[in-house]
Amino acid sequence: QYQIPSDVKKPRYVRVNTLKLDVETAVCELGKEHEVLKDDMIPDLLALPPGTDLHNHPLVLDGSIFMQGKASSMVAAALGPKSGWEVIDACAAPGNKTVHLAALMKGEGKITACELNKDRVKRLEHTTKLAGAASILIIAFASYVEVLHEDFLNLNPEDHLYSKVRAILLDPSCSGSGTTADRLDHLLPSHSSGDGDDVSRLIKLAAFQEKALIHALSFPAVERVVYSTCSVHQIENEDVIKSVLPLAESYGFQLATPFPQWPRRGLPVVEGSQHLLRTDPVEDKEGFFIALFTRSTGHFPASP
Ligand code: SAM
Repeated sequence: QYQIPSDVKKPRYVRVNTLKLDVETAVCELGKEHEVLKDDMIPDLLALPPGTDLHNHPLVLDGSIFMQGKASSMVAAALGPKSGWEVIDACAAPGNKTVHLAALMKGEGKITACELNKDRVKRLEHTTKLAGAASILIIAFASYVEVLHEDFLNLNPEDHLYSKVRAILLDPSCSGSGTTADRLDHLLPSHSSGDGDDVSRLIKLAAFQEKALIHALSFPAVERVVYSTCSVHQIENEDVIKSVLPLAESYGFQLATPFPQWPRRGLPVVEGSQHLLRTDPVEDKEGFFIALFTRSTGHFPASP
C-alpha cells in the first residue's frame, strides 16, 4: 500500500464560499492573523501556511469558508457549470463539491445531490445548510440543492425529472490511496487506512466506478461529466476511463482537458491520456485524478 511520507507539509487551503462571502473580504479577515495567498488556478481558493488551525475560526463555523484541498477544489471548477443549469452530484456526501458547485452557479439553477449512505446524507444536509445553498429554498420557492437519499444507479436517465440535467459530477467511493488523514471527506470505510488496498477490493471499487460513470454518461441532455477519485491507482483511474471511452465516444462524448496549464497528466496507458489530470501525493501533497467528458453543443468552451 502507498504510504504518504509523514514529513510532507502542505499549505492549509481554504475555499471561499462565495454564496456567503467575497474573496477580498475573506483575504482581509484571514490576513489579520495569517499570511494568505490566492491560488493561481482556482479563483476562490486561498493558501495559508501549513499547520494553520482554522477549525474554530468564525468564518469556518459559519460556512463562509470551507477547508478544502486544492485538488478537491479542481473538480467542480473543471465541470464548470453555468448559473441556471440543472446538475447532479452523483455521490455527494459530505458535500464539499456540492456546495462548490452551488457557489459556481451563483445560486441559480438546480443541483440534485445524491447520496446512498443514510448517515452521510445527514452530513450532506448539514453542509448545504451551512453553505447557504439550501436556504435559497425559502427565497425562491425552489430547492436549489435537493438532497436525495438514493443509489445514483437507481436514478432513471429517462425520467422527465432529469431530462434537463446538463452536467454531472461523479466522485465515487474510492480507495482513498492518494489522500492524507486530514481530508474532509475521509470518513468512508473505503477511505480508512490500515485495511490495505488489496486487489480484490480495488477490483470491486473499479467495477462500481465504471458502472457509475457509464450511468452518468447516459443522461440524455448531459453535456459535461467530470469523474474524480482521490486514488493513485491506475485501476480506479486510467483503466476506468479506458474501459468506458468507446461507449462514451458512441454517445458523442470526448475527453476534454481540465486545467491545460497543469503539468501532471494521466498515465500513458489510454489514448488521450494527456487530457487526464493527476495530482501527485508527494509533489502536490495529495493524489487525485480528474477526467472530463464533454459533448459539444456550442454552449461552452471545451475546458475551464
Ligand atoms: N464528493 C464528496 C465531497 O467532495 O464531499 C465526497 C464523495 S465520497 C468520495 C463518495 C460518496 O459516495 C460516499 O459518501 C458514499 O457513501 C457515496 N456513494 C457510494 N455509492 C453510492 C451510490 N451507488 N449512489 C450514491 N452515493 C454513493
